[in-house]
Amino acid sequence: VVGAALGIICNLSFRVPADAANVAAIDANGNGIHDTLEWWAIHVADPLGRVFLRLVLMVVLPLVFSALVLGVLGLGDLSRLGRVGFTSLFYTLILSGTSVAIGIGMVNLIKPGKRLSPEQTAQLEQAYATEAGDKVASAEKTKPLEQILLDMLPENPIQEMAGALDGSSKGNGMLAVMFFALIFGVALSMVEESKRSVTVAVLESLFDASMIIIGFAMRLAPYAVACLMFSMTARMGGGILVTLLWFVLTVILALSLQMFVVYSLALKMFARRSPVQFFRDSQDAILTAFGTSSSNATLPTALRVSNEKLGIPAEIGRFVLTVGSTANQNGTALYEGVVVLFLAQVFGVELSLPQQLTVVLMSVLAGVGTAGVPGGSIPLIVVVLRSVGVPPDGVAIILGVDRVLDMCRTTLNVTGDLTLAACVAASEERAETKRD
Ligand code: ASP
Repeated sequence: VVGAALGIICNLSFRVPADAANVAAIDANGNGIHDTLEWWAIHVADPLGRVFLRLVLMVVLPLVFSALVLGVLGLGDLSRLGRVGFTSLFYTLILSGTSVAIGIGMVNLIKPGKRLSPEQTAQLEQAYATEAGDKVASAEKTKPLEQILLDMLPENPIQEMAGALDGSSKGNGMLAVMFFALIFGVALSMVEESKRSVTVAVLESLFDASMIIIGFAMRLAPYAVACLMFSMTARMGGGILVTLLWFVLTVILALSLQMFVVYSLALKMFARRSPVQFFRDSQDAILTAFGTSSSNATLPTALRVSNEKLGIPAEIGRFVLTVGSTANQNGTALYEGVVVLFLAQVFGVELSLPQQLTVVLMSVLAGVGTAGVPGGSIPLIVVVLRSVGVPPDGVAIILGVDRVLDMCRTTLNVTGDLTLAACVAASEERAETKRD
């Protein structure tokens, strides 16, 4: 708020000269406040804000790669769990798929990013599409569908890894890296336990170290976000905030639809429970998720709620909620899809159908690859942005409102895990009675 307010003052002070006499006076004396604030916006606030973005960007690759390989190894336990594993996977795909579809449907319907004037769009491009490799609306991205599908398998994973971040990849950039990680994870799970333990330990420490760097970035976040808001509103004025408000409304509406319509239906159809009672019983977990913005931090409360209040058998709750707190992140998947399409609208990038499908697929995978910590989505959003030709630094536009939306999407993540656990428990119960 402070950043945005200072930025608006800076922007307004630029517009003070309303008549010729005023302009002359200001030209003669210099526009004191404006010049100083503008200098600070461009030379101090913007670079400081970008330190945060760089910290996040530099760990994207190790983080995504290690998170996905370890995630797939976790799923290996899932196949050992047999039926419970497969039912969980089935419901996870349904719930993640509907949430991304709702998110993408809402952005296309409300079009929050199309509320900017052409001048404002041009200013944004100038501000954020500055780095080498940023090419807004590049023509080469419109490839035929079969090529996009083939490019998911990288010829040269290392080249894709480098290209995923600077836009120079030949294939599908991050999506190809994600598929490489998936295949590597499946293969690693087939290697003898004693032989793979070293690789797993390396990946685990890579993941932990990346999370610590993200932790540094998150400590900087409040100041960095203020700096970025300041430099953005100084350039663009308060008008951009109206666009952001539309974006916030779109996200909240989409999250509510998933929470109150889709989960209620799933609870009624698959778990045969009253949704109202379910939400009432889950309120401790829901409030903790909202307050902490972290699915991981909410895990202990969610485990207690699932067993004591919802009466879900402990072994099912433990398995589904633990795997779900990183792998079944419906709110995160929805949010990532919405942000990418919103920023594509803001930068005037028209996404073809295959590109929108790429966004869907990447958002679902990103829901698996995102760590359950505050701001866990940001690195993944950066990656998806790059892969569809939207300047990744553009993520700065939404950072000012990210924290509030993080609270909301984490609430959905945790409620989704509890819904999943209830559905799996009910289907287990049905299978048991059938067998008896
Ligand atoms: N904060 C989210 C969670 O913990 C992850 C994210 O979307 O940033 O579930």
